[in-house]
Amino acid sequence: MKRMFLSAFALVACFMGLQAQTQVIAHRGFWKTEGSAQNSITALEKAADEKLYGSEFDVQVTSDGKLIVNHDSKFQGFVIAETPYKQLKKIRLANGEKLPNLKKYLKKGKKQDIQLILEIKSHKSKEVENQVVADVVKMVKKMNLEKQVEYIAFSLNVCEQLVKHTPNSEIAYLNGDIAPAELKKKGINGIDYNQNVLFKHPEWVKEAHELGMKVNVWTVNKIENMQKFIDMKVDYITTDQPLETKELLR
Ligand code: MG
Repeated sequence: MKRMFLSAFALVACFMGLQAQTQVIAHRGFWKTEGSAQNSITALEKAADEKLYGSEFDVQVTSDGKLIVNHDSKFQGFVIAETPYKQLKKIRLANGEKLPNLKKYLKKGKKQDIQLILEIKSHKSKEVENQVVADVVKMVKKMNLEKQVEYIAFSLNVCEQLVKHTPNSEIAYLNGDIAPAELKKKGINGIDYNQNVLFKHPEWVKEAHELGMKVNVWTVNKIENMQKFIDMKVDYITTDQPLETKELLR
């Protein structure tokens, strides 16, 4: 009887389009706060202090194959892909912290109760991208972080490589030019699209949900847009203003 009631409820919920409440992801960590900086370990810890769903960060590779956390392909005059790690590791972030390498970053992240939204940046060649994906996934598995790490990437090749290496992980495509159903066929189980893409294609939110895929949207910093996406029932809002989004959801 109880089971019948529960399945009837699930059916009604499905028809009414009920989704779990939208959750908040801090874009490059929670960096717009005292003592923090984009993609710093402090920004990750501050995101966790705010009890957000996730903290996003970007992964690049140095000329000697070391994985580091940084957004731009250039950092303080150095092209990361053409510079060895020993030269980059001395560089300080805006808050005085050293440029973090991925291993150190994940080690700190493991101690926090927050999802680690790991963006693998696009690279010049597929060979480099394939190697980066293999190395990142190997590190994540070795550190037993498979449940805590979720992947995002603009490169379709990176997403496909992720499916190959870690098919049960959360993997979302960022580039905004492919309908959810096409991605689902490739084993990619989420879209993480620019807000303008989802304003243009609101039907993709429903399409993704019907396929059991997650929907994330970036980078939403205006309150009115946050509210629009909450009303559209996206799963995650990625923002530089996580406290404002949290307040709206209260
Ligand atoms: Mg990013």
